[in-house]
Amino acid sequence: MKQTLQSLLTFGREELKRHNNPEPELDAKYLLLEAFRTDMAHFLMNRSRELPDNQEIREMTSRYREMIRKRAMRIPLQQILGSQEFMGFSFWVNRHVLIPRQDTETLVELVLTEHPGQGERILDLCTGSGCIAISLALKGKYGTITAVDLSPEALKVAAKNCGLLLGGKGGKEDRTDPEVELRHGDLFYALKPGEDSFDLLVSNPPYIPTGVIEGLEPEVRDFEPRMALDGSSDGLEFYRRIALEGKTFLKKGAALYLEIGYDQGAAVQEILEDGGFSNIRIIRDSAGLERVVTALWSKAG
Ligand code: GLN
Repeated sequence: MKQTLQSLLTFGREELKRHNNPEPELDAKYLLLEAFRTDMAHFLMNRSRELPDNQEIREMTSRYREMIRKRAMRIPLQQILGSQEFMGFSFWVNRHVLIPRQDTETLVELVLTEHPGQGERILDLCTGSGCIAISLALKGKYGTITAVDLSPEALKVAAKNCGLLLGGKGGKEDRTDPEVELRHGDLFYALKPGEDSFDLLVSNPPYIPTGVIEGLEPEVRDFEPRMALDGSSDGLEFYRRIALEGKTFLKKGAALYLEIGYDQGAAVQEILEDGGFSNIRIIRDSAGLERVVTALWSKAG
């Protein structure tokens, strides 16, 4: 049987269907375009044309089959392709970081709207791929952005994204994007009291209750880093720690923006109230779900 791009797509789609992939047609198409380093327009024009039997095509075909095999195992598409769009930028991802979610754009957009930037010093906790810190650096007018993660492997991904999107540590000479400074450590333990003090604290911490993780889609449950998801038995541990430990590092009047799970608004509000934060608001995402909690630290820090 002659081999065409269409026959390869059909093969991939059927293979993914057999393994209960939720988007077999779309995923097979993305993988085909990636393996054959081509685009949709080329695919549509040439899909029924017989592919020549040469070394290059054989290599691309075997790469495609290998990618389909991985996706059939439910490895996330983004980990196979190595990237995910976030805020209009392409972030490099691998299995050591949470894949940037559209949900999290709600947080970034809110920060950009409420604090477009006047040289503020920003702290991003649990930075992962660096998607929040780097998007803020690219779109706002801030001072330095300090991005912390406990995972050295995640920091390597964040560093790579700084290089790809900000043009290297500190940005290239001809760019004015603020520096994203990466630090390794367990939340505030990465910082120096008295020296590090911030105007804005942003974070998408792990917030899934431990017991809920087993019921998630295999892509998330089996292939995204557990430490980026697991927020302890009730999912709220990181909010408690941020409310308790954060004060030492916040300037008077500093603002806090935290991503939350859809059912955590009231609980996080209470944690922040108990911690002495004020002006607490719960913001919904485009799907109408509670997604971000914001608050102010109005006391002298
Ligand atoms: N929003 C992610 C999910 O639903 C979880 C992110 C997190 O724990 N910070 O998988």
